[in-house]
Amino acid sequence: MEDIYCFAGNPLDRASERRDDRAWIAALLADSDTRILPLRDLKPFTRSKSAPALDWQPVAQWRDHIGTGAQLIFLGLREGRAHFAIDATGAKVAPDVDTELIDVRALAPAIATGEAAILAEARSILDWHARHRFCAQCGSPTNVASAGWVRRCPDCKASHFPRTDPVVIMLAIRGERALLGRNQRRAGSRFSCLAGFVEPGETLEEAVRREVREESGIRCGRVRYLAGQPWPFPSSLMLGFLAEALTEEITVDPEELAEARWFSRDEIREMVARAAAGSDDAARASLPAPIAIAHHICRRWSSGQDSL
Ligand SMILES: [Zn+2]
Repeated sequence: MEDIYCFAGNPLDRASERRDDRAWIAALLADSDTRILPLRDLKPFTRSKSAPALDWQPVAQWRDHIGTGAQLIFLGLREGRAHFAIDATGAKVAPDVDTELIDVRALAPAIATGEAAILAEARSILDWHARHRFCAQCGSPTNVASAGWVRRCPDCKASHFPRTDPVVIMLAIRGERALLGRNQRRAGSRFSCLAGFVEPGETLEEAVRREVREESGIRCGRVRYLAGQPWPFPSSLMLGFLAEALTEEITVDPEELAEARWFSRDEIREMVARAAAGSDDAARASLPAPIAIAHHICRRWSSGQDSL
């Protein structure tokens, strides 16, 4: 089995073949065992600040809100029990006293892995609905179908499906050194793997080579896939790679990066340890925390777990 990183490892059976069965979905919504995860402005209802957990609620108190046409998504089944997400923005239902709203990025590392993965599913699809209310083909308002997994246009009959945007993220390797970049948008000394969206008409390997060359001027040969991670901001799929660097001279694209630099395996191992311990200071080059797959790509290569 592959390694599981934050937002991966969703424990739900999505039962996608039954989403169109309206009678079945209605029966689930009438079942008192069914659980609802409310999100307001894409932030989930959460219980207890000291040991946070998603605030799954019984369906009864959400019936009126569902009746107003609120966005309701069938997430899947766990041990026979249905799980839905609902857009609670504007809902009259008040959160319980100990319920608060915490941003998904801050909350995810603090809750169970499977819960974070369900949260990624819920956040991505609710955000997609919020941004895709009109038909991309003819401009008419669209209707939700398939328990929240399709939008259909009543005029031109087009069906629109939730998108997932593939992003390649890679560590270019040259012997015992690896290439890290520092973002223009991020102040301080935070370095990370280079990354970029896959474009139409290219393979993942081609996207890896193109992004490394565009951002740093380095040419790459062999490319090896490591692992993936859903990244629900709003709906990316991070695809992690090692790439064999064929050249050494760096020419950064100033639009993309403030700086790119070769780091030794020992330096990266030490940066990984500091990022994992949360003991970074602004004066030293640092890496992302373990919520990000970049952390694990660097950890796996620097510890010798992965090679090209
Ligand atoms: Zn249309």
